[in-house]
Amino acid sequence: MNKRIVVLAGDGIGSEITAEAVKVLQALQVQWALDLVIESGLIGGAAYEATGTPLPEQTLALAQAADAILLGAVGGPKWEGLEIHLRPEKGLLGIRSALGLFANLRPAILYPQLVEASTLKPELVADLDLMIVRELTGGIYFGQPRGIRCLEGGEREGFNTLVYRESEIRRIARVAFTIAMKRNRRVCSIDKANVLEASELWREVVAEEAKEFPEVKLSHMYVDNAAMQLVRAPKQFDVILTTNMFGDILSDCAAMLTGSIGMLPSASLDEKGKGMYEPIHGSAPDIAGQGVANPLATILSVAMMLRYSLHEPDHALRLEKAVGTVLDQGLRTADIYAPGTVRVSTKEMGDAVVTALKD
Ligand code: NAD
Repeated sequence: MNKRIVVLAGDGIGSEITAEAVKVLQALQVQWALDLVIESGLIGGAAYEATGTPLPEQTLALAQAADAILLGAVGGPKWEGLEIHLRPEKGLLGIRSALGLFANLRPAILYPQLVEASTLKPELVADLDLMIVRELTGGIYFGQPRGIRCLEGGEREGFNTLVYRESEIRRIARVAFTIAMKRNRRVCSIDKANVLEASELWREVVAEEAKEFPEVKLSHMYVDNAAMQLVRAPKQFDVILTTNMFGDILSDCAAMLTGSIGMLPSASLDEKGKGMYEPIHGSAPDIAGQGVANPLATILSVAMMLRYSLHEPDHALRLEKAVGTVLDQGLRTADIYAPGTVRVSTKEMGDAVVTALKD
């Protein structure tokens, strides 16, 4: 039975990097006879320009009917002055929420070939392989009430609400424990339970859920300490489980441990394993249109798609191995370039991965 994949390129470098990922998908189709139907849709600023909204109904309908979605990135200075509900980022938050993509998986893996690209000492990051499981559709980014109000006397006050239901905590905890069972069986849950009631409940429910996974060792850490530990001794972590906002911040910090934001994929899954796959970086307007962006995070997002939504773990491994091969060959886009390596364009990097897949 064929699998439907929707590609949403978005803005900035989105079209350049997704073009390379689609090339890889097409190569997989031919080489491994994968029965895929690849469609495309608009999101973000590009969708706003064409339809007046960052998330057109047609895009949402395509995404709802698909087995998996591949997203480039959204946003750019052109749309920063728009009302908040029209901004490209609203398209992204909207699709995550509409599809119930509550589990965000963000691996931070350091390829041995790139150990020098990290700002941390090589011995601290060599062989780093951690997975951040971030709750994606709840917490302070979605809590109501929210807004900016005018107080008596005319002073303005901004307010947001941090809210987590037991069921929301339980389902993301289960995802983290299940993933840990396939890794080193350690979960560190990160919260701020010393000051936030929502975090107190988070800690309690995660501990309850852990009883269903007796082989997994659970620990808890406050978010401020976790930020410090991530740059002090990141290899102590296997799976990090955390809330929407803490995960947003900590995963960018973890990304930097690996040297380049251009190397890291992510997956956002619903209850049934349907997912949206995207690089963790943004639309990089500063380099858009120059053909220099690193497409590997998007290509590695395809590997995550193969693993989590298309149930092809062997093909996922093959694709990850092909990325290792091009790095072994010394090929580097500008963001990961070092003296002694060969600088290549976005397109040349995509072509090299396709070639490596054939080996
Ligand atoms: P960014 O991730 O776009 O860029 C940060 C830096 O990393 C830039 O110097 C950029 O050139 C570089 N970079 C990013 N991806 C790269 C790649 N593949 N190859 C080489 N270099 C790369 O973050 P930003 O500058 O803070 O945000 C730019 C826009 O992207 C904003 O509008 C922001 O809202 C949006 N954004 C979107 C997403 C998303 O779509 N998921 C995520 C983050 C930011």
